[in-house]
Amino acid sequence: MVGEALAVAEAGLAAGEQPIGAVVALGDDIIGRAYTQEKALGRRLVHADLLAMIEADEKVGFGRRPHPLRLAVTLEPCVMCLGAAMALGVREVYYALESPSDGGAEIAAGWRQSPDAPWFAAPVMVGGVRREESRELFRRYCAAAPDSPMRRWAATLIADPNPSVPG
Ligand SMILES: [Zn+2]
Repeated sequence: MVGEALAVAEAGLAAGEQPIGAVVALGDDIIGRAYTQEKALGRRLVHADLLAMIEADEKVGFGRRPHPLRLAVTLEPCVMCLGAAMALGVREVYYALESPSDGGAEIAAGWRQSPDAPWFAAPVMVGGVRREESRELFRRYCAAAPDSPMRRWAATLIADPNPSVPG
């Protein structure tokens, strides 16, 4: 699944966006697919994972689901997208590259589920899947994009915090 998300991120990069791609799967079916579209749409609430989840939400509605929803994204979901995943009922999240400044993995790990709303549960978060491929997309983005706050943020993702650990 992360491979599909990487292909979407590649398309986003080719379109001049940040290289962040996401897919949502129900069983074997991909029912949501998007890259971040801040540049194309000129808005902020257009993260890849959020757009892919909105598409999936429109497809499944409130009907019973034969399988749990899974999200794959090339960058750790931010806290907004983690919240959207919980509201949608995503049970598993696979992501490539960690996003220490805005990522939601720590919040997910510490989430205390309420018995009054058992559906609002933190997904299982699996990070580091094909991390180097995602990092390479950000390297290419930073090499091509003009200076901006978003480019400076993206540059922080390129630095390897654990260079001695094989990735
Ligand atoms: Zn997000």
